[in-house]
Amino acid sequence: MPDPKNIPAGEDRRYLLGDGKFRFACHSGVACFTRCCHNADMYLYPYDIIRLKQRRGLTSEEFLTQHTITAMRENPYFPNVMLKMSDLKDSPCSFLLKNGCTVYEDRPYSCRAYPLEPAFYGDGENQLNIRCYVARHGHCLGHRQGRQWTAHQWMADQQMDDYHEINAGWARLDSLFRQNPFGEKGLDNPALKMAYMASYNMDTFRRFVFDSSFLSRFHVPQERLEDVRESDSALLLLGFDWILRFLFGQGRLRAI
Ligand code: SF4
Ligand code: SF4
Repeated sequence: MPDPKNIPAGEDRRYLLGDGKFRFACHSGVACFTRCCHNADMYLYPYDIIRLKQRRGLTSEEFLTQHTITAMRENPYFPNVMLKMSDLKDSPCSFLLKNGCTVYEDRPYSCRAYPLEPAFYGDGENQLNIRCYVARHGHCLGHRQGRQWTAHQWMADQQMDDYHEINAGWARLDSLFRQNPFGEKGLDNPALKMAYMASYNMDTFRRFVFDSSFLSRFHVPQERLEDVRESDSALLLLGFDWILRFLFGQGRLRAI
């Protein structure tokens, strides 16, 4: 791990943290306060969208339309959903006001993780391992103040554990999508559109589960079904299981 004292101010660096510690503090007293909330190039993960749309009292469709853009980025076979910045000067995040983030308790995973960049990996269905990198941006003064943190301490402090089960499931799917299960049709493949719906658009996916032939084709235990009716998180996990089944023939969801 590089010694942060040896990284010149203004330079961007990224390094694997491992069992080491990093120094960091972010608060309204730093001179760069909210600088990182402008012109941000930020991925939103499926659970981010659930938290944010509930926070804003929007449907999934409304949230996706108003606050996101889709783009083909690191994964060439499945679109990413990105947080849309506003059209105002310096492109601030649309959730930013003068005093800071207006969705702070439900801010996206990447916002709460910074300066950590967790990467999920595993070789089994339920295995969750996280490897953490530290991203150090030259404009961020938080690296030069505050206490020392291990990755575990930082993730607990930022309440990131709430996200990890779902984000690990998403990371697994994302790695499978990179094998291009959609073939030559790509974005025009109806299977891709279904997978996108089950990942990002919970309101539409809930109607699909309860108002189509879904439940006559897949066995969902009654207790799970009740959770899915009430909870977007439970519905999203069902969506992941369904994608695993219909695209890859894997997972715990059984066809009838
Ligand atoms: S300290 Fe870093 S993370 Fe905090 S507001 Fe400044 S630039 Fe953003
Ligand atoms: S969601 Fe909040 S913390 Fe994240 S970029 Fe927007 S204003 Fe900043």
